[in-house]
Amino acid sequence: MSSVKNTDTSLLIVGGGIFGAAIAYYFKRDNPNEEVVVYERNELCSGNTSLAAALMSRVRSYGHVIPLSKETYRVLPELEKINGDALDIHYNGALHLASTPENIASLGNMLKLASANGIDWEYITPHQAAEKVPWLSAGAARKIAFIPGEAITDPYLLGMAFANAAKALGVKFIRNTEVIELLKPQQAVIGVQTKNGIHLAKNTVLAAGVWSTNLAYKIGIALPMAPVRSQYWITETFESLFLPTSPTVLIPEANFYSRPQGKSLLFGIREAQSFYADPRELPSDINTFLFSRDKGWHDLEENYKKLLPYFPAFEDIGIKNYVAGFSGYTPDNQFILGEVPGVTGILLATGCVGAGISVAGGVGLGIACLAGKKPNPFDFSPYSYNRFGSIDPYNSDHLATCAAARSNKTSG
Ligand SMILES: Cc1cc2nc3c(=O)[nH]c(=O)nc-3n(C[C@H](O)[C@H](O)[C@H](O)COP(=O)(O)OP(=O)(O)OC[C@H]3O[C@@H](n4cnc5c(N)ncnc54)[C@H](O)[C@@H]3O)c2cc1C
Repeated sequence: MSSVKNTDTSLLIVGGGIFGAAIAYYFKRDNPNEEVVVYERNELCSGNTSLAAALMSRVRSYGHVIPLSKETYRVLPELEKINGDALDIHYNGALHLASTPENIASLGNMLKLASANGIDWEYITPHQAAEKVPWLSAGAARKIAFIPGEAITDPYLLGMAFANAAKALGVKFIRNTEVIELLKPQQAVIGVQTKNGIHLAKNTVLAAGVWSTNLAYKIGIALPMAPVRSQYWITETFESLFLPTSPTVLIPEANFYSRPQGKSLLFGIREAQSFYADPRELPSDINTFLFSRDKGWHDLEENYKKLLPYFPAFEDIGIKNYVAGFSGYTPDNQFILGEVPGVTGILLATGCVGAGISVAGGVGLGIACLAGKKPNPFDFSPYSYNRFGSIDPYNSDHLATCAAARSNKTSG
């Protein structure tokens, strides 16, 4: 091993995506005299963060997730003030449609959770829905809920807003430098090994997205997640159908979500069988991964008949862009956040289950509190890393179970 560097670091974060950047921001904000260092092997927020559709959904099927997203909304003006720059946030609202008894019940449950968390919503008519979203034939749904405060954003800019605010407070970001190994000589993680040497730290946070599995496994921590593909498409511009001010639309019966992208529509689907990868096969630059030879065309064909009753013009609209990336999905669709029982000096901030943009604020604040030995304002107990007992993160049945969790997701 080469030279030992920087033994004064209080918090060392592996990964400069939105999770790493948010954790760095909160920890430095609340512990201004402590040294915080982030290692990123590529450019900041250039991993899956930059690929997100960036629906900032607060209202989801699990009540414990909502406060995490609410923190993201709360922190936005704080970031704007520090950075002196307005964030690109559009509060267009969200429309949730439901038709089957099962989906109507789960929508009702979600809306109860919204009310309990002080988030306004209302049921609206198909006519009101069509006024907001001209392409939508909402009469195909039996219930339509409108949540006015839901937002969309540019995910890269939001990630960079956390990073820039952290930098302004004094966090050191070391880019283009890979963490080769977490150092755990006994039952404590004491820092990391990079090509430049050893970097010791009091606490290390593993926020390396879908790549976290491989780093953790080397030190005996088996993360219960799999890299599972999300993919979306952006249509051609069609001014009379796609309004920049339209809300996001979620239609579980059609496995579909959408948001405006200027005067085009960005839409995604959840395949019946989500595609996943073995974590050992991930390239270090996600943009070099071949997600689909036919740009998801086969998956669109599988789904479009379910979509047509809601989106009759779909067959006539051209597609101009295809985007895909990986999120870390777990068997129960919950994150992996917090401590590792029996190992000190390490915190996990991974298993984003496709919701990392929305929950970045809560994840950042919660992990920063744990690192600073302060009470965590959020309940991280549903996210404990060992909740499935002993697992093999490379086992194909385990990977398939995680992918199925994405396919069964209904709430954005
Ligand atoms: C197509 C798609 C659509 C999505 N849509 C939404 C959405 O609408 N709403 C939402 O909330 N979320 C969405 N997500 C999920 C969201 O993108 C993720 O939850 C979020 O980006 C996770 O952030 P992260 O920081 O954990 O991961 P990443 O952004 O992937 O960051 C991890 C970083 O760690 C770095 N790294 C890895 N290994 C090492 C190493 N050894 N040394 C140093 N650095 C390392 C990587 O280079 C990377 O930059 C979507 C994801 C995809 C793929």
